[in-house]
Amino acid sequence: MTLSFVYELLGFLLGLLFGSFLNVCISRLPAHESIVKPRSHCMECGHAIRWFDNVPILSWLLLRARCRDCKARISWRYAAVELAVGVWFAICANKLFVLDLAKVSRLSEPTTGEYVDIFGFAILGFLLIGLMVMDWQTQRLPDAFTLTGIGIGFMLTCVQAYFLAPGQGDIVIDTTHQLRLSSPGSFASQGNVFMTGPEALVLGRIATIASAALILLAVRWGYKALRKRDGMGLGDVKLLAMIAAFLGFGEALLALFAAVLAASVYGIVLLARRQASGSSKLPLGSFLAAGGLFSALSGPRIVEWYMNLMQ
Ligand SMILES: [Zn+2]
Repeated sequence: MTLSFVYELLGFLLGLLFGSFLNVCISRLPAHESIVKPRSHCMECGHAIRWFDNVPILSWLLLRARCRDCKARISWRYAAVELAVGVWFAICANKLFVLDLAKVSRLSEPTTGEYVDIFGFAILGFLLIGLMVMDWQTQRLPDAFTLTGIGIGFMLTCVQAYFLAPGQGDIVIDTTHQLRLSSPGSFASQGNVFMTGPEALVLGRIATIASAALILLAVRWGYKALRKRDGMGLGDVKLLAMIAAFLGFGEALLALFAAVLAASVYGIVLLARRQASGSSKLPLGSFLAAGGLFSALSGPRIVEWYMNLMQ
């Protein structure tokens, strides 16, 4: 058994627990119920679920997807959500292993920002998996996830800004002059520092969140002006802003692009099978959330590739 496997297994088990909690959120948040009280119970007969019947995935398998008391079917959604969060956390654990290995073998010194990145990656996955399922089942994207997510993503950006090394990320306009335009206390020794790294990171992220929201707001207004009805909820706007808060602008655009592409394909398939008409509603939020997961996994590489292409 290799050490990386131990990391991934622990991550997976922790993910199962969080997935179990996420199931409670998915069942209760869209209906504005408390996620603390009452205890988990069967949706059919109302019996409280015994602790040994509440073990992630395992109980679902052992009970053969049925309630112990009334034998009502338990949706596969519960096991799927637990599994998804488990796999997501295992990926996070692997990222953590790579950092720790580099540290122990003294190949490189991982920065605090890199650890914060993994932490944010885990939270983002948890929120996106939850939003994906909630929008699909209830056409709702609760503020408890989207707005809270924007707050957490922005807060983590501030933490990263705090841990930037002196001079790292500075925006320098003219390297030949000694004039300093930046705030006092910046580490500009040479050149015309327009913004220090932390200023650029935090202000840039605010601009990023606002522009991501504005893009979808513009689409929303445009649709309303043309068709005289709402085509997109504000939840979708907040969801894209949340993805931008965690990942940045390029990654948010990638998530939007992937979502629109996937939703279009899905819509065309539905139209072709005559299961939908031109005025049917697609759960865009689910596609956005899935696009966000895709972007979190492969976004940095794709955005970098695209930037190189543009140069
Ligand atoms: Zn029951």
